[in-house]
Amino acid sequence: MRPAVRPDLRRLSGYHSAHVDVEVRLNTNESPFGPPEALRTELTAAIARLDLNRYPDRDAHALRHELARHHDVAVEQVYCANGSNEVLQSLLLAYGGPGRTVAVFEPTYQLHAHIARVTGTDVAVGQRTDDHALDLAEVARVVADSEPVVTFLCSPNNPTGRAEPAEVVAAVAALAPGLLVVDEAYGQFARTTALERLRHERPEDAATVVVRTFSKTWSMAGVRLGYLVGPPEVVEACEAVTLPYHLDAVKQEAGRLALRYTAEMEARVALLVEERGRIAAGLGSLPVDTWPSDANFILFRPRERTASAVWHGLVERSVLVRDCSTWPGLSGCLRVTVGTPEENDRFLEALEACLR
Ligand SMILES: *Cc1c(COP(=O)(O)O)cnc(C)c1O
Repeated sequence: MRPAVRPDLRRLSGYHSAHVDVEVRLNTNESPFGPPEALRTELTAAIARLDLNRYPDRDAHALRHELARHHDVAVEQVYCANGSNEVLQSLLLAYGGPGRTVAVFEPTYQLHAHIARVTGTDVAVGQRTDDHALDLAEVARVVADSEPVVTFLCSPNNPTGRAEPAEVVAAVAALAPGLLVVDEAYGQFARTTALERLRHERPEDAATVVVRTFSKTWSMAGVRLGYLVGPPEVVEACEAVTLPYHLDAVKQEAGRLALRYTAEMEARVALLVEERGRIAAGLGSLPVDTWPSDANFILFRPRERTASAVWHGLVERSVLVRDCSTWPGLSGCLRVTVGTPEENDRFLEALEACLR
């Protein structure tokens, strides 16, 4: 007889985004642009030179060194993994587990709670205000009740869009008894970053961890590379739970080379921010509620139609957005990723047609 899976896993549903064949894919917040042509060429040549018969550099030293330089921190403060989701998993393998609790504030990124549960960690759930802002009284209540080993913030928050002001992050850090993990998957789109506060923490009580990814702004979702910047002790703890040679040689090269194209990445971010403004203006003239965004997506709620009707209407017009309407606190809501100018035009035209 096959054994049953862990009983606590049976009620988990996994994490899925719809796979539908459409022309305009605006559902997973990737960059609409491929990596710069020169980077592709450089990477191809670098791959040709790799000794693929050998295991890769186990410490990913060159990559971590470049990331440390990029953020002006020490190499001991950088930990890399296969996407930032794996970074989060390493953090929870090291700090979570049975008898321990993490805190999240809904609506927010679903993977924080999901990865916690997969690692056997309890999840304390706080609620944001009706505008999706953090309510510091609620944060105080939740962390006092649950004493979380990790308090998660997502800034800019996926899927609602807003970045937390530095003073809010500082206030949460003052309340949180354990690590404060700030997921900045969309950090380059925002004006604030928790990397600033990390610089001013005293080493002995440093507890801020910032998680970033190459999946969104760096146009490399297919490479699967993410990292954290935090106290060296946290990096060591993550390394202790990481499989040997988990970062393949190709990925290490890709990340290292991509950092040479920071100016190109920033130019793309600027273009997407401009397009975000154009989508927001377009939504402003339609019967939908929207929330301001500091990221490369916008959350919106049709006033006179159900989310499901609009989602299907958009798919019929070959435009895919994310249906968030079943997520906690987001009934009726859809999320659109900022695409190329042409894709955004297609989205706005299709949406207008659906709402007519
Ligand atoms: C997209 C996203 C990630 C990215 O995960 P990867 O594993 O790096 O692709 C992480 N956090 C948030 C909030 C995201 O939206």
